Formats: sequence, structure tokens, C-alpha cells
Amino acid sequence: MVNIEQYLRELPAVDSLLREPPLEALRGSLPRKIILAAAQETVERHRQRIRQHCSRGEPIDRESLSAATLACEAAARAESMARPSLRPVINATGIVLHTNLGRAPLAAAAVQALARTGGSYSNLEFNLESGRRGSRQAHVEELLCELSGAEAAVVVNNNAAAVFLTLNTFAAGKGVIVSRGELVEIGGSFRIPEVMSASGARLVEVGTTNKTYRRDYEAAITAETAALLKVHTSNYNILGFTASVSAAELAALGKARGILAIEDLGSGVFLDLTRYGLPAEPRVQDSIAAGMDLVTFSGDKLLGGPQAGIVVGRRELIDRLRRNQLARALRVDRLNLAALEATLRLYLDEEQAVAELPIWRALTARPEHLKERAQALARRLEAVFGPGRVELWAGSSRVGGGALPSADLPTYLTVLNPDHPGPEELAYRLRTGDPPVVLRLQHDRLLIDLRTVAPEEEALLAAAIEKAYGRRSD
Ligand SMILES: *Cc1c(COP(=O)(O)O)cnc(C)c1O
Repeated sequence: MVNIEQYLRELPAVDSLLREPPLEALRGSLPRKIILAAAQETVERHRQRIRQHCSRGEPIDRESLSAATLACEAAARAESMARPSLRPVINATGIVLHTNLGRAPLAAAAVQALARTGGSYSNLEFNLESGRRGSRQAHVEELLCELSGAEAAVVVNNNAAAVFLTLNTFAAGKGVIVSRGELVEIGGSFRIPEVMSASGARLVEVGTTNKTYRRDYEAAITAETAALLKVHTSNYNILGFTASVSAAELAALGKARGILAIEDLGSGVFLDLTRYGLPAEPRVQDSIAAGMDLVTFSGDKLLGGPQAGIVVGRRELIDRLRRNQLARALRVDRLNLAALEATLRLYLDEEQAVAELPIWRALTARPEHLKERAQALARRLEAVFGPGRVELWAGSSRVGGGALPSADLPTYLTVLNPDHPGPEELAYRLRTGDPPVVLRLQHDRLLIDLRTVAPEEEALLAAAIEKAYGRRSD
């Protein structure tokens, strides 16, 4: 007969557990509250374990109830409780703008701007020249005008907010004409028809899924029409028998009929992507040059900056956006603004932008170079996993983030086929390790794509894999 009381008496008290060396050692570095909670939770876990075992009539190894064993477990628990919930992750998926992993990592210059501005007061809304109140928009507006050729700019929290604010300001209670081929869903809860109705505007659909002509827009214009809206189909392609109306044609039609022409570019880039072997993506400056009244885009997609929504266009229209009561609710935060300014400054020199923005480094990485890196990693890991368990495959990376859906970026993958633990368990240990590593699990293999791993993260990645593989399963 297994005696539950006897086992429970054997469990160390929380007080004595706290005096064990592994927990004593944490005293200086972790808050007392966390160490105490970890000790209590550990004792409680073993209490439940004893009850479960006893109810099934199974004996328990006494050593597993010793103060020394519980102290080690409690120390590990305390360390994991003390770790921040939101922390850096190594992205070995090869998906460059991974929405779940925070989209674009920032350039070093943007990170420095965050640190500089975050820890002190700043001239966020203070004009140092005049000593009077200033606008937070002043820090980026000139840069945005310089890069886009627009007269004015305003930055809000994200592009969803930019589109919403634009529609609400100019089209509440009125009609906005959109092609049926451009009724985009971005994922999450951003869908053009829904955003339109939330903003108070009335959606007027024209054309068909694959073909929309200038005459379709023209026929739908009434006295109630506020705007023509062109939405970039950023996360899908319509191929085959297709027709759409260009930004220039739509802008000309708007002008001729006295209504606004607005374009939601989604990603919004300033670079000519075809120079880098990528599919063409409409540039912000081209939409402005085409005569669009207002153009909206994101800060953290192909721009490679922080989360932000940017509207560029005509001065009087931008001023009206700023005066909307909702602008305050949707306004950009000072840290994002600091990072955005630093990011935009890099674009003043295209070469510098491509060299220093992590997403451009990833997107323009040469396959031969990726192959060398993947090979070096494979050699290192083969020493750990054994011969035949590590391979080098040709594959492709993705842009992600709802941008360039058909871009195929040739890459090389370091492929692991571990036995003990198997691929699923190893992927789990890597995700829950420190730093966490996220990779692709496919064909019962672990696929590592170094395109999205910075060279300075490589040693950390290799060490994390070795540690996860060697970790005792408990
Ligand atoms: C991504 C995207 C949005 C939303 O932008 P967020 O910055 O994610 O809010 C809106 N419209 C289009 C066309 C997009 O691609």
C-alpha cells in the first residue's frame, strides 16, 4: 500500500527549499517574489504528482522528491519566469517579412534612434527654434516629401489606420468606387469592404474580378461620389485574361470629374525592385507622379521600418486629415516616429538603404553566398547529429508580410533529420529555448534558411541547435 501522507511529509518545505544552493544563488539576480513563487509552484507540482501516482498505486522514486532535485527544478522555473514575455527570436524560416515574428527587423540606425529617444525627453512636439509647441509630424514630413515628391505627409499608427482615416475624412456618408478585382483582405481583420463601412463610406464596386475598365468607374460616378480608390493587390496576383486601370488613368479621371483619386499601396516602396531581380512593385513616387491625390502605405513592410501608416499627397488634403478628431486616436507613437525618421534617412542614399536595412540585406542576398553559409552550418551540425542526418537542399525563401506573393527567392537550406529527439520534439525545444528559434518543419525534416538569419546570429543559432539536441528529455 502506497502511503500518500508519507510521501507528502517527505517533500521539502518551501522555506528550506529557498535555502538550497541553486535558489540561494539566484538571490542577487532575481526578484525575491519570483524565486518564492517558483519554489511554491514546484512544491505544488510535486504534491499533485504524489496524489496522481498514489491514486494509481504507483510508487515514487524518493530521490525525485529531494530538496536538491526540487531546488534545481525551481531555479529553472524562476529563470524562465524572470524572462520577458516579448523577446528576440531567431527567424530561420526564410520568410523575410514574417508577420507573426514582428515583420521588419530595424536597421541599426533605427534601433539607436529608439534607444536615444526612449530614455529621455525629446523635442517630440516642441519647436526648438521658436521655443513654442511643435508638431510630431515635423520630424518626418520633409523626408517623406523629398522621397515621394508629394507636397505633404502625415504618419499614423499603421496603414490600416491611414486608410481608415482617409476614408473617414473624405468619404463619410458618400460613395467610394473600387474595382472588384481589388477588394483585398490583408489577414487579421483588415478587409476593404469592412474598413470602408466602419469609416462611414459607402463602397461602390465596379468591374469584375479579372477585368475593370475606365468606363466602369466613369459609369458609377454620381453627385454622391467622393473618391476613386485604387488598392494594390499586395498579397495576391490576378493572372491571365485581365485588365485594370492604371494610377495615371484613374488620377486623370478623378481630376476631370472633380473627385479624389486615392491609392492604397500596401507595402509602399521607394526602390525599383527590378534592379535587384525582384518582381516590380509600384513605387510611392510613381503614384504621386501619376497624379494621385493621396497615397497610403505601411512603415514595416517593404519599407523595412517600424509599424506606421503613412499618407502622402496634396497639402490641403493632408491638413484635413490632421484636423480629423480621429487623428489623435490613430496617432503615431514617439518611439515608432524616431525609428521611422532614421529608416527614411537611409533611403536618401539607395546604396546605404540596401546595405543597412535588414530586409533589403535579406531580400538581395546572393544564392552563392547563402550556399556557403548553409554549407558551413551543415558541417558544424553534422559533427553533432552524425553522418547522413544533415543535408544541403536547394529551395526558396518567401517575402511574406502580404508582399510580392509570387516572388521566388532561390536559397539553400540546411536540412536536419534528427532521430532522438525527432524533428517535432527538436522544433519544440528550439521554440522554447533561449533564444527561441523558429524554423520550417516540412517533409518530416527541419529546414533552416539562413536568408533571414543575420551573420552575427549564426553562432547563436548553431549553439541553440546543439543545446536543444543535447537537452535531456524530462
Ligand atoms: C498591409 C496592407 C494594409 C494594412 O497595413 P498595416 O500597416 O498592416 O496596417 C492595407 N492595405 C494593403 C493593400 C496592405 O497590403
